[in-house]
Amino acid sequence: MSALDTPVSKRRTFAIISHPDAGKTTLTEKLLLFGGAIQLAGQVKAKRDRRNTRSDWMGIERERGISVVTSVMTFEYGGHVFNLLDTPGHEDFSEDTYRTLTAVDAAVMVLDGAKGIEARTLKLVEVCRLRDIPIVTFINKMDRDSMDPFDLLDDIEKTLALDTTPMTWPIGRGKSFAGSYDLSRSAIRLRDAEDQTPVNGPEDGRIQALLPPQDYENFVGEVELAAGAAKPFVRQSFLEGHLTPVYWGSALRDMGVKDLIDALGAFAPSPREQKADSRTVEANEERMTGFVFKIQANMDPNHRDRIAFMRVCSGKLTRGMKAKLVRTGKAIGLHTPQFFFAQDRSIADEAFAGDIVGIPNHGTLRIGDTLTEGEDLVFRGVPSFAPEILRRVRVADAMKAKKLKEALQQMAEEGVVQVFQPFDGSQPIVGVVGSLQLDVLKERLDAEYGLEISFETTRFSVCRWVTTTEPGKIDEFARRDSSAMCRDLDGDAVYMATSPYSLKYEEDRWPMLKFTDVKDYQ
Ligand code: GDP
Repeated sequence: MSALDTPVSKRRTFAIISHPDAGKTTLTEKLLLFGGAIQLAGQVKAKRDRRNTRSDWMGIERERGISVVTSVMTFEYGGHVFNLLDTPGHEDFSEDTYRTLTAVDAAVMVLDGAKGIEARTLKLVEVCRLRDIPIVTFINKMDRDSMDPFDLLDDIEKTLALDTTPMTWPIGRGKSFAGSYDLSRSAIRLRDAEDQTPVNGPEDGRIQALLPPQDYENFVGEVELAAGAAKPFVRQSFLEGHLTPVYWGSALRDMGVKDLIDALGAFAPSPREQKADSRTVEANEERMTGFVFKIQANMDPNHRDRIAFMRVCSGKLTRGMKAKLVRTGKAIGLHTPQFFFAQDRSIADEAFAGDIVGIPNHGTLRIGDTLTEGEDLVFRGVPSFAPEILRRVRVADAMKAKKLKEALQQMAEEGVVQVFQPFDGSQPIVGVVGSLQLDVLKERLDAEYGLEISFETTRFSVCRWVTTTEPGKIDEFARRDSSAMCRDLDGDAVYMATSPYSLKYEEDRWPMLKFTDVKDYQ
């Protein structure tokens, strides 16, 4: 037993993954309502809009109606502390999403009942599965015409190779959608504001009274079929990421969301152990550890602050404590750690494993940094992906080349773009996964550093990190064409190729070198 067992067991840290338009924002608002974190639905968006008008670079987000910012929302409900990590919807910012997924213990997959699994859902589930993150499914928009529920379950099983257990069943759908039927408890709930009402099975008169005759007949048939055919819910299998419990509802109409949040409290894991380079760290260990998965600048343009989002992995973080930044060995004081709510942020007096705290700093912290109470361990696995778009940056005023270099370094530390310095000393190359990142970079360099820049294409279209166990080989490889070899922010070697064919050619000729397209930070 540890004094930390109770706070740790209460916590549920999760993200919502979905294809744009499936209803993530609407669901987020409704979840926050349960926690009393916001009084009125609609405020998540309203808050974003307000913030945007105050911040120049987020103008991009406003113009295109997309969310660039990953934020954290903490709320309490039913004896649990929920930390909901929001992720950007647009795929150009997918790196941000992948990093965020390193900081959660569970994910809610939201599907549009009319569409089933869509491209982005598939991609995000793949990332969750790489990390064995358990997934709870919420099938939304059941108040509209939707696919047959069995086809939806089948779609999940086949497309994602994930077992499903329907935990509830929709009572009617489309215009007749009336609520959810709890398959194991034999109880119904019509609206989220209500408790469940026990019924005598699917043929109960109260259900019959809710539906037109044909829909009622279908419902009874489906529930019988589901009860006979569905796989039993095995929590272990869910925790290992092999099985997803499925809930149905309409976030817009306040239906099925309570089933979902109750499920997260009941089944989703409390903060899990985290693998570090030297050992595995348990959530209830006494000494504080954590890692930075996200940096955000300019949350409040009036203060020009830079916030590092850290997931606490163990121990207790207390306000004012000193922590060791393992990368540099230096101690930093955590004087004003912050918690985030939908409306606000506040000073955190203490935080436990699973919590996300914001640490204001002026560039000391980077993505992937580990903080401890002294131990030299490093959490690995905040990934960096080989960018697909590679550009040279030109600054209009040549006198500002040095300032540009500094600014790019900062942007790279924040994970806005990746920056590669060619061995031959030529202009740095920036790499991004999605082109909107370039727009963000351009706007931010202008707004925050007064740098007017333009992008130039390069002859490169592919890049790979290069590693080897044979000393000297990378230098030998680099000597052939030093303009095609770069160092990244950490000083690791990166090879730039003009095409996948030339990459393949070099891979065949240099078998002692390993060319990889993903790298853990640090
Ligand atoms: P996001 O892109 O995943 O964040 O999706 P939003 O929450 O912004 O929802 C996209 C659109 O679907 C909006 O117009 C919502 O009002 C609508 N919507 C969300 N949930 C539901 C639902 O349960 N039923 C219906 N009919 N519409 C919904």
